[in-house]
Amino acid sequence: MSTDYFTTLPSNQPTSDEARGNILQSPGFGMHFTDHMAHVRWTLDDGWHGHEVRPYGPLTLDPAASVLHYGQEIFEGIKAYRHADGTIWTFRPEKNAERFRRSARRLALPELSDEDFIGSLKALLAQDHTWVPTPKDASDECSLYLRPFMIASEAFLGVRPAHEVDYYVIASPAAAYFKGGIDPVSIWLSSHYKRAAPGGTGFAKCGGNYAASLAAQKEAAANGCSQVAFLDAAEDKWIEELGGMNLFFVFKDGRLVTPRLTDTILEGVTRNSVLTLAKDEGLTPEERAISIDEWRDGAASGEITEVFACGTAAVITPVGELVSEDERIRLTAGGNNEVAKRLRTKLLDLQYGRSDDQYGWLT
Ligand code: PMP
Repeated sequence: MSTDYFTTLPSNQPTSDEARGNILQSPGFGMHFTDHMAHVRWTLDDGWHGHEVRPYGPLTLDPAASVLHYGQEIFEGIKAYRHADGTIWTFRPEKNAERFRRSARRLALPELSDEDFIGSLKALLAQDHTWVPTPKDASDECSLYLRPFMIASEAFLGVRPAHEVDYYVIASPAAAYFKGGIDPVSIWLSSHYKRAAPGGTGFAKCGGNYAASLAAQKEAAANGCSQVAFLDAAEDKWIEELGGMNLFFVFKDGRLVTPRLTDTILEGVTRNSVLTLAKDEGLTPEERAISIDEWRDGAASGEITEVFACGTAAVITPVGELVSEDERIRLTAGGNNEVAKRLRTKLLDLQYGRSDDQYGWLT
């Protein structure tokens, strides 16, 4: 796939080697940005055009741009990994491209082709490749986090899909998302907030879903928890997902259960990959409804031996306990999170090129 059709306007004030080196030593998450960004514009009359990579910097946006009023916006998250031979790879970008189109349809935004989505990542990486950190060892989970997003930029206050839209990709060097690495995290069960409702936007990756989750996230932080688990809106009974990750349950008999996909759950690329890896590890993946009662009872009886969360940012992270206003659900069996650790190592080895790309997942 050629990316020659992206015009490149190099920054005339690139970050110095020394300053970039300092950032890459300890990048944190989402705090520093590379020297360039990719951009493609869409108008109702001309479709997608003006493919470019240009210096990173503030956007000029009309105060009436509809994204600022009605939140017509979608985004993606994907990492670029540096392998030991210096080459740079992304993980299943066509899955993110497909999800981005799904999100676009739900938010009445124009769809972007695989070619433009993956092409924009490649064009940006071609310019900013020195920003992809080099892992020090196999425990170093550094990467360059890529954030494609699309906004309704038309200056118009009528409520209808915008006729002018801009798509950008920015990039941010990243260390492990959770500072504790593989240490189990505590999750807050929100009693009164819901993330998504049937017919709504839960399956789409749009800013509004995350804005709506922040009050619950604040509650979680106040209770010493790092993420929120949401139950379904209709019955307040079925486990859906976390604010930014999908959930898996390991059963004593080798079953690996994750909530089945509905229009209220975001289909994670990591979730999909874990389902494949698990089968090859001899586990029995099951996509089905799982209730909060089954979590509570399974944790108490020892039937459930592990719970873990997964997503691009946090990879696979064991869940130590589920905390709510009324109770704390802890696993009586397990505690060693052996399955989560095994799957996590398998996934990271694939992503960092330490094992054979047997599924053809690297681009
Ligand atoms: N659910 C939600 C709500 C998310 O924001 C994310 C992160 N994109 C995920 C699940 C995991 O998706 P992925 O594995 O593609 O990162």
